[in-house]
Amino acid sequence: MQSFYIHWPFCPYRCHFCPFVAYLKNDSFLKPYHDILVKEILDYGSQLDEKPHLETIYFGGGTPSTYPDDLLLDTFGTLNKVANFGDDTEITIEVNPGTVTKEQLIFWRTLGINRLSIGVQSLNEQVLKKVNRLQTTEDVYAVLSDAQGVFENVSVDFILGLPEVTPNEWKEQMRKVVQWPIKHISIYFLMVHEFTPLFYRVKKKDLKLPLDEELVDLYCWTIDFLRQHGIEQYEVSSFAKPGFQSRHNKAYWHRKPYRGFGVGAWSFDGSKRYRNKKNLMLYMKEIGKGEGLIEFSETITDEQATLERIMLSLRQVNGLSRETYFAHIPSQKHTQAEKQIAQLRANGLLEQEQDSIRLTPKGFAVEQEVITQLSL
Ligand code: SF4
Repeated sequence: MQSFYIHWPFCPYRCHFCPFVAYLKNDSFLKPYHDILVKEILDYGSQLDEKPHLETIYFGGGTPSTYPDDLLLDTFGTLNKVANFGDDTEITIEVNPGTVTKEQLIFWRTLGINRLSIGVQSLNEQVLKKVNRLQTTEDVYAVLSDAQGVFENVSVDFILGLPEVTPNEWKEQMRKVVQWPIKHISIYFLMVHEFTPLFYRVKKKDLKLPLDEELVDLYCWTIDFLRQHGIEQYEVSSFAKPGFQSRHNKAYWHRKPYRGFGVGAWSFDGSKRYRNKKNLMLYMKEIGKGEGLIEFSETITDEQATLERIMLSLRQVNGLSRETYFAHIPSQKHTQAEKQIAQLRANGLLEQEQDSIRLTPKGFAVEQEVITQLSL
């Protein structure tokens, strides 16, 4: 079983917080990019001895909901040539509110897409406008309503920590969300990535971000609130109703192989991780030259693989087995590791139950810090 990731980099606007490989939509690029993408998929298929059966396919971006219908149909035709997939395959497409019609949703369903991931981010459209996320609350409700009866598996993304969203307003938004016909929520902390417009605006004090302590409290409140409404946390940013955890994301976290297609797309074959060129022009120029498409590649050592397993396990609610952790730590550091765990437990960031070490809600909010402290 394998997963495919397909990157559609075009967006109708550039959000100021965005760190992704994304370009402002230019109609004249869509077809040429699609042709190259299809060629990359076919080239990959021609190297395989047999068609793999896909566990998941994920259309990410960018804004894949701006993928023209005829071209998307062609992509599915291409995917069919190189891989097998069916009703048992989770096929997700990311959607920006305001970029899709009901007819399109029905069309996607006929293609086999069975999961929508809607980038809501916030229900405060004034705040979204300030960070150049140009969608309205009306757009959000329209796509949710249009999806009803077409898609059962709907996920929504929210950003915690957007400027000027008060704790009460966030809670009010969550109270609305739990009433929606959705199965999954992803909640990401707003990150200020270097060299994004948000980075410069925060630096100039043009935008004021909420305090970290306030966000930690709000995040812990959200975990509890969603649980009370049958939406359980299963990873630091991911919450789902029973049976609707994202299989695609879990494939990443369980270090299963996946193949990414498109500009800047990452792949992992079980031992090697590599990334396509990030620059659109270079990606489009290099296709057909095989290895020339790849800009970065590394073979994961056993040591790195264990470290990755530790980090990825800690990000999930099931946590990490003590046995795996201590097997990774050199024996002369075991006493230090025990002390570190005891300290993190005393600070309410970690909990331990038999063989399992898990982050508490407060620990999830500062997971990077905890992971650093445990990476001896
Ligand atoms: S829509 Fe998504 S990918 Fe596009 S600019 Fe906004 S955050 Fe980035």
